[in-house]
Formats: sequence, structure tokens, C-alpha cells
Amino acid sequence: RLEIKDLRRSYGGRAVVDGVSLQIQPGQVTCLLGPSGCGKSTTLRMIAGVEMQDSGTIHVDGKLICDTVLRVPPERREIGLMFQDFALFPHLSVADNVGFGLKNGSKAERRARIEELLERVDLKRFIDGYPHQLSGGEQQRVALARALAPRPRIMLMDEPFSGLDNRLRDGIRDETLSILKEEDTAVLLVTHEPDEAMRMADEIALMREGKIVQQGAPYNVYTRPHDRASVAFFSDAN
Ligand code: ATP
Ligand code: MG
Repeated sequence: RLEIKDLRRSYGGRAVVDGVSLQIQPGQVTCLLGPSGCGKSTTLRMIAGVEMQDSGTIHVDGKLICDTVLRVPPERREIGLMFQDFALFPHLSVADNVGFGLKNGSKAERRARIEELLERVDLKRFIDGYPHQLSGGEQQRVALARALAPRPRIMLMDEPFSGLDNRLRDGIRDETLSILKEEDTAVLLVTHEPDEAMRMADEIALMREGKIVQQGAPYNVYTRPHDRASVAFFSDAN
């Protein structure tokens, strides 16, 4: 379970993330939805630990992983990442890509986990192949397997499907969702597309100018936006 409290970050005196608080439960998908530039990716980078907040705290399963003094490094946060530009390693086989973050266990145990995940994303036949032999959608599924391999408690996804064509995207969204639910991962998915949020979220956190302006079940947020700017955001997107 992920809990962030009053997260803040400014660049050059401008507050880009301006007091964001969120809680995400295992097996639940929360979408951080909002227009370009509202601070979504910055929020995710601070949770991942690749960017430092000015203030605010982050807890994973009740354990403090970051405040302004303490800072657990990214690789020890038990957080998986899937970003659009977070490509596979071209020089590593599919198996080695999936196994990249697996540090514990015997070689046989690691191999078993790699096989299990490739089976789950239906790509086991490519286990000894290389990224360039795969389509964009297949590469995305390998990236999902790689992110899930170390059994992260939290999965952060920043527009992970935006590079895929429409036809492919729906299938991969649904497949990704069902795998994340099976693994009981808490998911924070960033998107600027209301459609994607409506399709994938258990809960939507609507963000604008560094703040969460409304939060709730997708249907409620979509049908009852709290203010004019949110109404405009939903209608512009369609
Ligand atoms: P998009 O939907 O376009 O990806 P976003 O909501 O993810 O947008 P962020 O990437 O978080 O937005 O950026 C929020 C604002 O902070 C933007 O105005 C951006 O220019 C600014 N910003 C982000 N990173 C930096 C940085 N390292 N230095 C200065 N400004 C930054
Ligand atoms: Mg972004």
C-alpha cells in the first residue's frame, strides 16, 4: 500500500507539485489524470525516488521510505516502473531483460520466475529472442514482465500505452490490468486521456496545476466534475 502526504516540488520558484496526497491499496488502480504540464510525471518521479521532493512524505506498506531527511534509494523501494520511454535493453535477451531486477534466489528460481511471467504475457516462445525481433506491443508486454519480476508492492506507470496503436492498445490495457490484479499490486497510472482512466481506474485523482482537485470513482468524477475547468478538461479531450 502506497501513501503519499503533502508532496511538494518547485522549479525556479514555481510550484509544480503543490501538496499532493494519495493512498493506493493493493489490487487497486488509481489514475492520476490531468492535462499536460500539471505535474503528473514529477509526482511519479518523486515516488520512484529519482527526484527529491521539497517536502512531504512517502510510505510503502506503513514504512517510511522518503521524507526530507531519510531517503531510501530507488532500487530498494519495492516499486516497479513502466514508462513509455523506459525501453528494453537492446543487447539483452528477452529472458535477461525480464530477469534484470531479480537479485535474490538461486539461478533456477530466477529462471522459473522469468518463465512464469513470460507465460503470463504469452511470450514464452521469445524467451531467447532479442527486443528487435518483437513488435511494439510485444516489447511492452516484456517490459511489464520485467517490472513485475521482483514482485513490487507498488507499480508506477506513466502513459505506458501511448506509443501503441489503438487496435493493440485495448488488448494490452486489459491484459495488463488482469495481471496486475492477480499479483495484487497497488498501481498508480498516469494519463492525460480520460478514456484510458475510465477504462482502467478503480479510482481517479484529477490533477490540475500541481493539485488534486477531485478524487473518486471514475463514473462520479466523469459525470460530476466539481468545477468549470474540470468540465472543460473532459469536453476538450473528446
Ligand atoms: P505531460 O502530460 O505533458 O507529461 P505532466 O503532467 O507529466 O505533463 P510534468 O512533467 O510533471 O507534467 O511537468 C510539470 C511542469 O514542471 C512542467 O511545466 C514542466 O516544464 C516542469 N518541469 C518538470 N521537470 C522540470 C525540471 N527538471 N526543471 C524545470 N522544470 C521542470
Ligand atoms: Mg508526463
